[in-house]
Amino acid sequence: MVEEFDRYEFKKKLEELREKSGRGTELVTVYIPPEKQISDVTSQLRDEHGQASNIKSKSTRTNVQSALDSILSRLRYIKRPPENGIAIFCGAIDIGGDKTNLDTTIIIPPEPIRSYRYHCDSSFLLEPLEEILEDKKTYGLIVLDKREATIGVLKGKTISALKHTTSTVPGKTRRGGQSAQRFSRLREIAIHEFYTRIGEHANEVFLAIPREELIGILIGGPSPTKEEFIKGEFLHHELRRKVLDIFDVSYTDESGLYELLDAAKGTLEGIELMKEKKVMDRFMKLLVNDEKLTAYGEDEVRTALDAGACEVLILSEELNKVRATFECEACGYNFEKSYNLIPGMSTDEIGKGLTCPNCKSNLKVTDLVDVVFELSGIAKDRGTEVAIISTDFEEGGQLFRAFGGVAAILRYRSGF
Ligand code: ZN
Repeated sequence: MVEEFDRYEFKKKLEELREKSGRGTELVTVYIPPEKQISDVTSQLRDEHGQASNIKSKSTRTNVQSALDSILSRLRYIKRPPENGIAIFCGAIDIGGDKTNLDTTIIIPPEPIRSYRYHCDSSFLLEPLEEILEDKKTYGLIVLDKREATIGVLKGKTISALKHTTSTVPGKTRRGGQSAQRFSRLREIAIHEFYTRIGEHANEVFLAIPREELIGILIGGPSPTKEEFIKGEFLHHELRRKVLDIFDVSYTDESGLYELLDAAKGTLEGIELMKEKKVMDRFMKLLVNDEKLTAYGEDEVRTALDAGACEVLILSEELNKVRATFECEACGYNFEKSYNLIPGMSTDEIGKGLTCPNCKSNLKVTDLVDVVFELSGIAKDRGTEVAIISTDFEEGGQLFRAFGGVAAILRYRSGF
């Protein structure tokens, strides 16, 4: 679950950037794709620097130019962009009380940046990064009746209709002069042909999606069409196994895909939650039946994690804690301590008034790191699986409130 950890870190950074704003149009964002020459970027930014001299407000002008200076000086040490490119966010952040602080964040995204962007505004440009963060999970969608079928996919939050097909299946009422038996036989053949065609289209579309990205398939339509379609084995056997559920929908064109998704909302949310629930169920059962296979609370879990005893590290999404490292400037004594971040609390307040237990000198914070990030990092080194749990269900809420948002399932019985 390395991926989850990286995405978490990335998401956290995005959230931080989203909260930053400038007093004027003075925050600079630069996205550099991997193939871009740094020298091109440098000359473009110098150009912007020159144009910034036309800005009327003196403070905005100064702030834009110092942001550009800062970016240019950093670029001096980069020969070429890293494999996925690089995004730079720099500007005078409004820190209240009539003060600003020149702040630079550099992000190397987990996936490549697609195009070069220069952007100057009162907030940072985050859309290209948000797109990268977007879900890659894909669901296959089929809506059908005997006359029409549409095949599409849901990727992240976007629905795309990819194939549309109609049939020549005659209506239920036969024309005069035709034998009832013959009519119904012909109609059945036409229906079978149409289902086969839908199956072929669906196989073509869904089998092209990387297996690990296709989470499941949803099928919608009136009864008994959708049931007949599934029973008839028109879908490739691998895809048949991925059918999550069927739903009644009344449209079978593109709008039917939206109707299908609406109907399937509960099922989809359920799948996400199911994974989290499974982990929490296992933890709760062990807690009752075999407590020595569990650990909870940050200190206990930390000890178990350090010892390599954790099979699964369970962290609440709501956990908002930081781990500070303190060092005594006089005697070098150092230690770590975690703090809950209360909304509105500044990290500057951390450790205020603390003195060295050895020599009573002042302590300095030498490192400050998000606890979820830090513990996930240790877990990664120890081969421990990490599960990040939302508070959208009862046990998830309990994890946060009753267990301090940190718990673990252990590999062996121990008393941590
Ligand atoms: Zn000391």
